[in-house]
Amino acid sequence: MPALLGCIADDFTGATDLAGTLVRAGMRTVQMIDVPEADTVPADADAIVIALKSRTVPAADAVAQSLASLKWLQVAGCRQFVFKICSTFDSTDEGNIGPVAEALLAALDTDFAMVCPAFPRNARRVYKGYLFVGDVLLSESGMEQHPLTPMTDPNLVRVLDRQTRGAVGLLPYDTIQNGTAAVTAACERLHTEGVSLAIADTLAEGDFEVLAAAVAEHVLVVGASGIGTGLAGNFRRRGLLGHEAVASQLAVPAGRAAVLAGSCSQATREQVARAVAHYPAIELDPLQLAKGEDAVADVLIQAREYLETGPVLIYSSSEPEALQAVQNTLGAARAATVVEAAMASLARGLVAAGVTRLVVAGGETSGAVVKALDIRGLRIGTEIDPGVPWTLSLGEPAMGLVLKSGNFGSRDFFLKALATDGLMSRSTRMCESDLTNSK
Ligand code: ADP
Repeated sequence: MPALLGCIADDFTGATDLAGTLVRAGMRTVQMIDVPEADTVPADADAIVIALKSRTVPAADAVAQSLASLKWLQVAGCRQFVFKICSTFDSTDEGNIGPVAEALLAALDTDFAMVCPAFPRNARRVYKGYLFVGDVLLSESGMEQHPLTPMTDPNLVRVLDRQTRGAVGLLPYDTIQNGTAAVTAACERLHTEGVSLAIADTLAEGDFEVLAAAVAEHVLVVGASGIGTGLAGNFRRRGLLGHEAVASQLAVPAGRAAVLAGSCSQATREQVARAVAHYPAIELDPLQLAKGEDAVADVLIQAREYLETGPVLIYSSSEPEALQAVQNTLGAARAATVVEAAMASLARGLVAAGVTRLVVAGGETSGAVVKALDIRGLRIGTEIDPGVPWTLSLGEPAMGLVLKSGNFGSRDFFLKALATDGLMSRSTRMCESDLTNSK
């Protein structure tokens, strides 16, 4: 059977997050990395998520990559499409959310889509079009200082309107509270008024059910991962999905395990601090790495030794002051490149040393690792923490991989990940009660 839902994600960890949500909702999901090659349609997938890196590239590139992905998903048989964006609406006045959404609408020969950026499970909520992160507005959440996509305006209707040619509207919370028929009618009214993209207020996970039911017949939905559960529910109601919870069962290979942490985000730093108390750990020194490849070879020799007895943690995560010092010496771009290149070589070296389960922390770091290991696609398994599932690489030999966005995961994330695998969903569930949730 061809896949039902085709998703285009504007960054890697966002793609994994959506894929994990779809799996939890009972859809067998494969995540492809970049626009896949023509003949690589995976079998047995209910949903396919293509992970692009299009969030901050020039808008024209993002449009081109997204349209190529759409074409591939159409060939794969998908009948409904999601453009997955970040739940903090990461974008600038030039794009890329608006230009990509409008290009997808045109390519799908339609002119209206709902936009659902909320992710209440991760404390991102939209009310009267304003995005809240936890208790504060987006523009006070720290996102206003983001280096690439500073979000200084919390009103998403205004933000999106500045990026689009067409009009942007709002589906207010009172309408959502009135149920699916009210939302459907409001969408029709907005559409008639010439609105092509409508931001949906969302306060609780339950709201997605109402929103998703209203877009069951829409060919395109724009949103963060939260809406995925509702979309899966639509397919289930139509008898297109099985009821059994088999979607998350992956046979993650037994074997050696390692963690590569290249994120300096607060959550990852805390996770590293916890993990070093339990596992042998090696800290990377970017200044030494910048001097040449030998440093990586030395780390690998030490890592191989540690792997004889259990998992090893290799990290470059450092406190802001130390990070600043390195960046002052090497320059931020070169520091990032040096560390990413080291992580890529380490990933290859660890696999050569028999590692079959690899946990990676950091969005860019994950991208570098996946590229180094030439991984084209991932089956998505059990979630360890919200937004971070175990995955299994497509192709042979299959590898167990966890690709974690820097700020995601509870303090014990690495310990949990190393203590579980895709088969042991029971032990994962036992850990859910002690989640502190991600930011
Ligand atoms: P996150 O998901 O937290 O944003 P990323 O992996 O996307 O993490 O980004 C972290 C960036 O910082 C990467 O480019 C990485 O190579 C770089 N980096 C990691 N550790 C250091 C360090 N100690 N000094 C300088 N740059 C670093």
